[in-house]
Amino acid sequence: MTQIKEDCGIFGIFGDPQAVQKTYFGLHSLQHRGQESAGIASSNGDLIHCFTGMGQVSRVFRTGRGILERLDNPMAIGHVRYSTSNSSNLSNAQPFLSEYSRGQVAVAHNGNLINADLLRDEYEAYGHIFKSSNDTEIIVHLLAKPSHVTKPDPLGHVLNHLQGAYSLLFLFPDRVEAARDPYGIRPLCLGKTKNGAFCVASETCAFDAIEATYIREVEPGEIVTLDGRGVSSRFFVTPGTITPAHCFFEHVYFAKQSSIIFGENVHEVRKRCGRQLAIEHPVDADVVIPVPDSGTSAAIGYSTESGIPFDMGFVRSHYIGRTFISPTQSLRDLEVNLKLTIVKEVVRDKRVIVVDDSVVRGTTTKGKIRSLRQAGAKQIHLRVACPPVKNPCFYGVHFPIREELLASQRTLEEIRDYLEVDSVEYISLEGMLRCASLPADHYCTACWSGKYRIPVSMVVNKFSMERHQMQLFDEIES
Ligand code: SF4
Repeated sequence: MTQIKEDCGIFGIFGDPQAVQKTYFGLHSLQHRGQESAGIASSNGDLIHCFTGMGQVSRVFRTGRGILERLDNPMAIGHVRYSTSNSSNLSNAQPFLSEYSRGQVAVAHNGNLINADLLRDEYEAYGHIFKSSNDTEIIVHLLAKPSHVTKPDPLGHVLNHLQGAYSLLFLFPDRVEAARDPYGIRPLCLGKTKNGAFCVASETCAFDAIEATYIREVEPGEIVTLDGRGVSSRFFVTPGTITPAHCFFEHVYFAKQSSIIFGENVHEVRKRCGRQLAIEHPVDADVVIPVPDSGTSAAIGYSTESGIPFDMGFVRSHYIGRTFISPTQSLRDLEVNLKLTIVKEVVRDKRVIVVDDSVVRGTTTKGKIRSLRQAGAKQIHLRVACPPVKNPCFYGVHFPIREELLASQRTLEEIRDYLEVDSVEYISLEGMLRCASLPADHYCTACWSGKYRIPVSMVVNKFSMERHQMQLFDEIES
């Protein structure tokens, strides 16, 4: 069970009489990508309305408040945001609505702009005032710059100033624009509803929720416009000049099993990883159990390849949120116990293979292993469907600091001893990459390999923007 905070989810739609309701359902299906805040911006063709709130989609737009009714317009974008310790406040919720010399614009962002801090310093030096600690806000300041608004394609021009990971949705009063960074780090897909409206989403599970059909990905470096003329496309970098760096952790953990991302189904990739894991690290045992939900597909693959029966040793409660929402480790541990209960009959007196999608800090894994022992498991062999996570991510995913990553400074034996398992093995990086369809160099693997496609020297932490927020808190407290 991974203890990393995922990135965000975005959804947009144009020309549908139920655009706002469909955005609501789309965001619901993307809820696994972020639970801290949710928001929808919609336009009637002249004016953009926006509502954001803290918490999950169903809470922010709960029945009886009349918010969806007030937003009811034929084009909309929406956003769900992940939880962080210092930036959890309404000013950082998205879509981010602003007004500049060319009118209104709302922005929804999935990713992390690694040069946002530098750009913000530059703009602040010229007197710009920022109202959030959000890296997305800098995009609006770039759009508003007088020398940018007069360019033939101001948006394409602005995107060329951004560095890092971004899948972006822009709602202008008359159109939706969807853009993806030149490396295609985060996913972004294009679909079509039954009544012919076009939509875009982080994952295709959002299309399933509204019975829309998946058409294709928004390509790296592409801007797709949804407006009264249908769909049109342009590129702000020359196609084919940059090798993609799709985040492989999307396949391992973030994305929903039913989704198609980077051109293939997530469940199928995870099953192949499980099979590969069984080939690389077989062990005699009685039962294969997953750590649900993200370890389930890999456990099915492991069981299929090894011939060892699959069973549900853990049962997940779906009535509590993701565990990282709690501020302290002890509370997170308690939440994990609530979330995963053991079926003792499955593991008692058995040699158990536990398949997990990933191990990051290892603290919750250790707790689950102890629970399995208490439930009577005779042997416990942990098999992990991604390589040891040793490095932080700077492209939109909030990892623990390097020192807190279990594998960053430990040998395999030390990890085994720490987790108190009989054996622990990880899939190899090469083996994992073979389980997806694209060439190996089309994926980002930096959190495992340490090879950052966008040089680390340029990188700033996503939360460096929050120094501004921290200063504000300090001043209030002093
Ligand atoms: S460092 Fe890891 S989590 Fe971050 S983009 Fe790369 S593969 Fe994804």
